[in-house]
Amino acid sequence: MQPGPEIKGWCPGAFAPMPSGDGLLIRAKAIGSRLTADQAREIARIAVDCGNGLIDLSQRAQLQLRGISEATIAEALRRLEAIGMLAPNADAERVTNIIASPLAGLARSAFDANMMATRLAAELQRDATLRALPPKFLFLIDDGGALSLTDVEADICIEAASTEEIAIRIAGVPDRAALVAANDSLDAALRLARAFVELRDRHANSFRRVDTLVEALGAEALPRTAGLAMRVYEETRAPVRWAHIFGAQRRGAVFYAGVGAPFGRWRADEFAVVAEYARNEGTGELRLTPWRALLLVTQDEDAAQRIVACARKHDLITSSDDQRLAVIACPGAPECPQALAETRAHVLELAPLAQKIVGADGVGLHLSGCAKGCARQSASPITLLACAEGFDLIENAGTDAAPHLRSLTFEAVMRELSARAGRGQ
Ligand code: SF4
Repeated sequence: MQPGPEIKGWCPGAFAPMPSGDGLLIRAKAIGSRLTADQAREIARIAVDCGNGLIDLSQRAQLQLRGISEATIAEALRRLEAIGMLAPNADAERVTNIIASPLAGLARSAFDANMMATRLAAELQRDATLRALPPKFLFLIDDGGALSLTDVEADICIEAASTEEIAIRIAGVPDRAALVAANDSLDAALRLARAFVELRDRHANSFRRVDTLVEALGAEALPRTAGLAMRVYEETRAPVRWAHIFGAQRRGAVFYAGVGAPFGRWRADEFAVVAEYARNEGTGELRLTPWRALLLVTQDEDAAQRIVACARKHDLITSSDDQRLAVIACPGAPECPQALAETRAHVLELAPLAQKIVGADGVGLHLSGCAKGCARQSASPITLLACAEGFDLIENAGTDAAPHLRSLTFEAVMRELSARAGRGQ
């Protein structure tokens, strides 16, 4: 039996660079979903001048610069600070983990999620108690407008429930929420976060995230400690699909071009190009999403179409039909020291088969370098898990499930996928 993956329990940041197979990885943190074209252009330049020219857009809608060295990190941080993408200190950076609605402040919505993200970040960075939150602790702010965040997992969610009420939900309790007035929502979320710190402290720091606390103490412990009453509440909005994201789009009065790079991995020249599109054809801003896509906001559909046509020339993802969207793969070897095999090297061969077995969310195959499953926590039609001798194959589950077939060669993997693709899984 192979050893399980190492649980680090921390996230890379600008002040906490993570050693990887290709050098140090640092995070450029945006507060909220908005990135200006100038910020994007400078990120591309920093990636070239201080790193290896690669930029990741993570599932937390944050940018990561790769291949930074000890010699260049100070320069990278100085330049991130100059464009407002560096937290004031390591403590502030560690706890400021917020995902906000991609179209915040643009599309019709109950409130401005980016403004709320700014206020939440200020509180997280000011309050000494909250510095004890675990580094992966994530807040989500969904304004109820276009592009719902309902499929994104977070510890504490602030969601528009109606024009008068905001639902505050916690991980591990999908059917209940505290319903509060808009003015009280931030306070309620912060009370839950402080209650988490208190309960975690009382239980010898044994809870890594809210869902593990709920599993151990039940659904009521956290809201009770926070002084909040939970009621039956069901989130009814449909999750976002690739067809809502990629290509030229219109949501109400908002136009945008949705553009992605495979696995959210951008080359600096591609990133610089989209920054220029955003400036020349768009409104000068891009929106970060947790779906590994950038949205370039435009004044009209023609401009969005022009951006899509240009992005296509750079082989970026501009359509929900793109086969590369059917495969999710973590960086694998050699970038990740924990990986037991290469992952992304196989994707172009596997993608056409994966597309034939996709589930409702457009993903057919998850390829993971180890059992940690960083790239996807939820189930996939097929999960391929690298092992000491090839790949284990898991059906309709995630990396933590028992494999149906073990230690397959790559040729055997292709045969198995072809058979499933032939019968539509
Ligand atoms: S899942 Fe992939 S990226 Fe995550 S630790 Fe394992 S090999 Fe590394």
